[in-house]
Amino acid sequence: MSSPLITRMQPFGTTIFAEMSALAGRTGAINLGQGFPDTDGPQEMLDAAKAAIDGGRNQYPPGAGVPELLEAIASHQERFYGIRLDPASQVLVTCGATEAIASVVLALCEPGDEVVTFEPYYDSYAATIALAGATRRTSVLRFPDFAVDEASLRAAFSTRTRLVLLNTPHNPTGKVFTRDELELVASLAREHDAWVVTDEVYEHLLFDGAQHVPVATLPGMADRTITISSAGKTFSATGWKVGWLSGPEEAVAAARTVKQFLTFVASGPFQPASAVALGLGDDFYEGLVNSMQRKRDLLCSALEGLGLQVSRPQGTYFVIADAAPLGAVGGLEFARRLPEIAGVVGVPVSVFHDDADAARTLIRFAFCKKDEVLQEASRRLAAAGTHAG
Ligand code: PMP
Ligand code: GLN
Repeated sequence: MSSPLITRMQPFGTTIFAEMSALAGRTGAINLGQGFPDTDGPQEMLDAAKAAIDGGRNQYPPGAGVPELLEAIASHQERFYGIRLDPASQVLVTCGATEAIASVVLALCEPGDEVVTFEPYYDSYAATIALAGATRRTSVLRFPDFAVDEASLRAAFSTRTRLVLLNTPHNPTGKVFTRDELELVASLAREHDAWVVTDEVYEHLLFDGAQHVPVATLPGMADRTITISSAGKTFSATGWKVGWLSGPEEAVAAARTVKQFLTFVASGPFQPASAVALGLGDDFYEGLVNSMQRKRDLLCSALEGLGLQVSRPQGTYFVIADAAPLGAVGGLEFARRLPEIAGVVGVPVSVFHDDADAARTLIRFAFCKKDEVLQEASRRLAAAGTHAG
């Protein structure tokens, strides 16, 4: 019998993150593949979740999200970026950023519409665009600097462009888009009357003093931009699946219509706890950056010490290295062998590309791990490097 899976979802199979975490589990290799921290987020937030459970907040929350979280998201956007939102009509809580992406894309795209995105892209973008029956048009960011190529970006736009799906800071490259690059995207979106959906889940993970520029703050963009974020990354709670989107009232209402029929609601007691987290003082946010920047430096130095070319990221908790000196040829096949070669798991960047040649030897490593875990991974990689050399 032919596959029961609809044709347009057949390319997607099992996500690379699930596959690589299962591989780490099976082999006992250190998991620098799937991006999740190995320590918990702020104690105030954990206590608030326990209090919410004990306080009986265990039934369906309101469809748009609990009021204190809607308020906290609006206050956060004003506090950090000067963006003013009406919490009642311009904010929607979702089941992680993943559902925010899905509800917006499914709400705004008709079959045949085109979505412009950069590759490498986060895996759910391609799958969600396919679910909507839309077509993705990409512009490649190339190792090691991942600069935007204006000509290819322009070429990706057409009269059918419905929206641009952007991600800054960018997974998997760690790139932080410059203001000029964002202005270019914005001007092309305006020219083609397209929406911009901007995934900013790593908005608080920027290094070396780099500044996050939300697309919604660019001149003329607030009316056509939907901004997405998540408690998972900032507060080290990826399993809570508390995400959100914000933007113009009519776009938020459209996403809410779709979201009702994806999960209806989610994460009841974790919503008030995420509100507490968002309101933490500057010392929390600064501490997060300092600790993650140190981890970045630790892993990048170890990879460079092996003679690998590394693109030192300005944001996120991922670093891409060229693993050619370790024997990488085909990304996926090499990543599947990496536990055996080095006792470490990483993610092949090639799976996030349409252009299979763009990243054949590139591997993404996550550094949101305890220092001792990163040190042990570095030792293992160094031993593998000695053997390969
Ligand atoms: N967008 C990007 C760029 C991500 O890296 C991730 C998550 N890991 C998500 C969206 C999904 O976030 P969530 O876990 O909140 O659904
Ligand atoms: N966003 C995480 C990563 O990039 C993984 C999330 C997932 O497994 N879907 O590693």
